[in-house]
Amino acid sequence: MKKEKAVVVFSGGQDSTTCLFWAMERFSEVEAVTFNYGQRHKLELECAAEIAKELNIKHHILDMSLLNQLAPNALTRDDIAIEQKEGELPTTFVDGRNLLFLTFAAVLAKQLGAKHIVTGVCETDFSGYPDCRDIFVKSLNVTLNLSMDYPFVIDTPLMWLNKAETWELAETLGAFEFVRERTLTCYNGIIADGCGDCPACVLRRNGLDEYLVKRDQGVKQ
Ligand code: ZN
Repeated sequence: MKKEKAVVVFSGGQDSTTCLFWAMERFSEVEAVTFNYGQRHKLELECAAEIAKELNIKHHILDMSLLNQLAPNALTRDDIAIEQKEGELPTTFVDGRNLLFLTFAAVLAKQLGAKHIVTGVCETDFSGYPDCRDIFVKSLNVTLNLSMDYPFVIDTPLMWLNKAETWELAETLGAFEFVRERTLTCYNGIIADGCGDCPACVLRRNGLDEYLVKRDQGVKQ
């Protein structure tokens, strides 16, 4: 384990919770930061706070309501449907979200004396979000280091994993049950296996099914 401190960008969902476990295994000190940007479901913030408390992780909740004011989207507004039209970004995309989140996480990390910023962004299940791309993260990493004259390292443990491999990582970290039962990914605000119908639930379940098949086969061999 590295004697280093990390800040995890944490939403209480499957991906960022897996990242939290990843960071806890890797770094001697870990804190989590959650952004309140007017999510449809307050439950998301409560879920994140509960997980952090249970794992004994210091949890920072930062107000980012400005983001909703600037960029209304389906994650914050009930009157915008979650959909993706051919050739367009899904309505769940929020312009500037990861740029702002990672930047504010970096400001916080520097104050806390942390070098590492961990985020669950992923290019593999790419919904077309430009700010989940590896090249964006690398570019921002350079910009952050220059802007604050500080040697940040943005860690993206899920960048090249598909959803099944993310479940596998959780298992490797001894966190499979915890992630499955305690996290909130569903756009309709239902913890664990969710509503089963929204795009986030479908993605999560497909990955889980794929992983469970693979795991069962591994047991039989
Ligand atoms: Zn759902």
